[in-house]
Amino acid sequence: TAEKLKKPRWIKAKLPKAKDMHRVTELKNIMREKGLHSVCEEASCPNLGECFGHGTATFMIMGDICTRKCPFCDVTHGRPKALDTNEPKHLAETVQAMKLKYVVITSVDRDDLRDGGAQHFTNVVTELRNSLPSLRIETLVPDFRGRLSIALETLAQSAPDVLNHNLETVPRLYEEARPGADYQASLDLLKRFKAMKPNVVTKSGLMVGLGESMEELLQVMRDLRAHDVEMLTVGQYLQPSEFHIGVKKYWTPDEFKQVEEAGYEMGFTNVASGPMVRSSYHADLQAKELAH
Ligand code: SF4
Ligand code: SF4
Repeated sequence: TAEKLKKPRWIKAKLPKAKDMHRVTELKNIMREKGLHSVCEEASCPNLGECFGHGTATFMIMGDICTRKCPFCDVTHGRPKALDTNEPKHLAETVQAMKLKYVVITSVDRDDLRDGGAQHFTNVVTELRNSLPSLRIETLVPDFRGRLSIALETLAQSAPDVLNHNLETVPRLYEEARPGADYQASLDLLKRFKAMKPNVVTKSGLMVGLGESMEELLQVMRDLRAHDVEMLTVGQYLQPSEFHIGVKKYWTPDEFKQVEEAGYEMGFTNVASGPMVRSSYHADLQAKELAH
């Protein structure tokens, strides 16, 4: 039915804990001073208190206008602006001022750029590495449709600690939920990057609640393992507005637990599975055991 599902009790925003409040305010102030915005704030992420409290934040590079229009996503669609060549330096300064320990760098899709923005990603990682040697860096990259080979070669010129690329949903729902994306191409991206940079941990994320079955989800997880992916996040899709694709089902905490257990059985080194898990949730804790 088109009727809106009622949110179950386990879907609730977590208020920052008192001990994290101070840090949240401090980090927000620094970002305002530097004129930067985190995905954490823009997406009103329910984990903001925890993540900022741990010194983790996610930033979007290459602007805030995307060349695609995925029906689950709240990012503005349109013609992006030219790349800001000062962005790597500017971001490094901000991360330093915020004293972050773990940073997730993501971007909109830039189908307008010859390399999809891979060189810019590499510039950002290189700048962060050079100015902040102890910072852990996770890149959450788009699919570089139609330019995967050149993008991979460019991305491999720098090494984040973790390379994340989200499959988002099961292949049957790609046409509806990820138009323009290709399931196998995303798997190939992950596998090929791992082959080029064996020391970088690879990671992927899935949303549930779009109509997929448990078995379909488990098959995607097996596919990820078959493409050497090591870390996994699984979280509930929530509809950003009535104009976005609807929630078909709220997965129960028990089902998330089953997914987690199945993931460990398949050999993922780390699985974060829960209603409020986001692709960068507890990224710092997940990656804690990784050696440089
Ligand atoms: Fe930010 Fe990701 Fe943490 Fe949410 S889960 S607050 S987006 S780092
Ligand atoms: Fe959102 Fe990414 Fe889709 Fe762009 S490509 S609309 S940023 S999910």
